[in-house]
Formats: sequence, structure tokens, C-alpha cells
Amino acid sequence: MSHSDIDSDVSELDQRELSEAVATDKWAPQLGYCEEPETPLTADTFPSKSGGKPAWLNPEHILNVEKTTCNNCNEPMILLLQLYTPEDEPEEAFHRTVYVFCCKNGGCHKQDWTQCFKVYRSQLPRENPYYPPPEDEEEEENDVAIDFTPKKFTKPKECVICGVAGTKACGKCQSVYYCSRQHQMVDWNSCHHKEYCNTTMDKEQEQEIQKLRASRLFSEMEIVSEPEGQGEDGKEEEEQREHTKRETGENSKESALALRGDEAYENSEVAVDQSFLKFQLKIGLYPDQVIRYERVEYDMPDREPLWVQQGQKPTIIPSCDKCGGPRTFEFQILSTLLNYLDISHVADDSLDWGSIYIYTCKYNCPINPDIFVPEYIWKQDFSAEGMKL
Ligand SMILES: [Zn+2]
Ligand SMILES: [Zn+2]
Ligand SMILES: [Zn+2]
Ligand SMILES: [Zn+2]
Repeated sequence: MSHSDIDSDVSELDQRELSEAVATDKWAPQLGYCEEPETPLTADTFPSKSGGKPAWLNPEHILNVEKTTCNNCNEPMILLLQLYTPEDEPEEAFHRTVYVFCCKNGGCHKQDWTQCFKVYRSQLPRENPYYPPPEDEEEEENDVAIDFTPKKFTKPKECVICGVAGTKACGKCQSVYYCSRQHQMVDWNSCHHKEYCNTTMDKEQEQEIQKLRASRLFSEMEIVSEPEGQGEDGKEEEEQREHTKRETGENSKESALALRGDEAYENSEVAVDQSFLKFQLKIGLYPDQVIRYERVEYDMPDREPLWVQQGQKPTIIPSCDKCGGPRTFEFQILSTLLNYLDISHVADDSLDWGSIYIYTCKYNCPINPDIFVPEYIWKQDFSAEGMKL
């Protein structure tokens, strides 16, 4: 489809595309939703989550701030989200977590968004020094006791603000650690370390400090997932699909517009971005989704993301830094996630995006000895054409 299609009349909306857009397919994506965590999202629970400090899959080797610094403003980025995405193949990817970091300064994103995101893949095989291998069925049946002794190692110091490696200690008390001078200043001035340095805090004070420190990060929410078209809302989608089928059979112009909302659009001569229309149809079925995870089977064909507009598509997805193999689309982060991050939406320079697309090594190549392998990110904004509708 070419750029000139953007200006096409909505009546030209391809009916096949329209019904495809609301049809479930063989490899239904996993939709991620934000929920208040019921238990602490510690690394040993292999969490998928937004915000908070990173839960490090590899507890012995964690990222240094050099790998999470914004290239525009030189401030440390913070964790946007991490997804636990284990794979059956290869063995190295039995445990697998993808981390997405971003600069929380919205102005930076407007300047050059490519400089303010970082994505890393981390993996561990089933047999690893840190976590006991989960029992497989046979072992469970035979009640075989798993003999596992975790490796003894010195736990790396973490920055009390952002959770990446804490390579600097407070010069006075030597008991809190920071990734950078910037986060040391934040703690000193905004999180009251100035007052509490070298003092013993009571429980209440301790909690207050924790809260202040957490407020420097995106809110921590658990991301739970279920396949699109199933679960609670599955029936709803079925009904919507039936409705679409009926309507498209009768009058494509009206139905295409009706699906967008309940208002009547008298003037159908509006320029509409077909990708945006499709996007809205899909998202409208499950409006609370924040993630669309598309690589649900190891050997499934490569998938196209759900674009929010025809323009701003990546021309080339660079090969894997590590193995040189292809990177393919894995998941997308929707703008709905912004509602859960506890950031200001009113400020002119607040964080914003239409969708963020994560591309990762198709073969989940071994990461050793690097622990973290960079992956590729793309961003689309909502187009002006789409928003006009
Ligand atoms: Zn920045
Ligand atoms: Zn930090
Ligand atoms: Zn101190
Ligand atoms: Zn690779």
C-alpha cells in the first residue's frame, strides 16, 4: 500500500481487509493487561511488569548505567517494562526476559526518540546456577526430588533509585548505592537522603523513603496475558465480528464509520488512514490491552505488527548484533500503557507514542558471555490524518 492511500475516501476501505481485521487467526496474539501485583514481583517469580526496578533474570550480572543512559540528555533511563517470554528452542532461551528502558523526559523523545530507548534480551537455560529446574511431568509423576543447590555469589549492588548496577556508594554513610551522580543527587535532594544519611530510620520513615524513590520510576504493574479472542471478552468479540460482517455486507461506508464510535458521521469525505482504522477496530475489541505479543509459537511465520498509521514504518530491521541473523517482530507496546505509568499527560513535553514495536533475534541466539544483548525498537505516532477522523 502506498502513501497516497492515506487520502482515500473511507468508502474505498477494502472489505476483505476489514473483515480480516476483526477475524481471529490461528496464532492469536497474546494480549497483555496491567494489574495491581498481588505479590512482590521478584526475579524468582519470572515477572512480566511495567515500571519499578528491573527484576533481573540473571541475578549475578546486571546492567550498568552506561547501557541505560539516554543519548540525548545523558540522564539514566528507567525501566518501561520487562516481559518474561520463555522459549522451547533453543535450550539457552528456556528462561528469557526482554527489558525495555526509556528516558522519562518527554522532551527528549520529541528531539530524537531513537536515542531514548534501549531494549535488551536476557536468557538462561533450564539448567542454570540460580533457579531450580521446574519439574517436568515425568518427574512429577515419579515424585523425583530435584537436587538443586543454588550458586553462592555476591549479589551485585543496585542503585536505590533505578535498580541498575550501583557502582557508587554514598560518600558519607557508604551504605546506599547509586548508578550515577544524577541518581545520587535525586536521592540526596528529592528523596530525603540528606536528612537520613547516617541515621537509623524507623519503619514509617523507611516506607516513606521507599515511596519517594519509587515515585522516580514508572508505576510497577504486573502484566498478565491471555490470547486474543478468548477468556471473558471472547464472546463480545464474536458478536462484534458478526455485527461487522452484517454491516459490511450492506453498506461499507456507513459501517466502517459506525465501528469507530457511536456518533453519526454525516460527512464521509474524510481522509482516513486505513492502518489507523484497522488499528482502532482491533484495539476496540479489547480496549484495556497494553501489549500485543505476536511471537506465540517458535516456528510460526513472521508477523506484521498492528500499525497505527501507514507512514513511519521501518524500512530495514537491522540484523541481530550478536549472531547476525534476522530480527523479527515480537511484540508491541500500546499507548494505553501510558495510562498506568503515573506520568503527567498534561505537560507539553509528556511522554507519548502511538505504538512501540520490539524486534528481536529470531533464533534467540546464545547471549554468553554478554548476559544482555541489545535488540531493536521502532516507534509510530498517531498520524494527523488518523486523528482527524
Ligand atoms: Zn533523555
Ligand atoms: Zn540509578
Ligand atoms: Zn548516605
Ligand atoms: Zn541473534
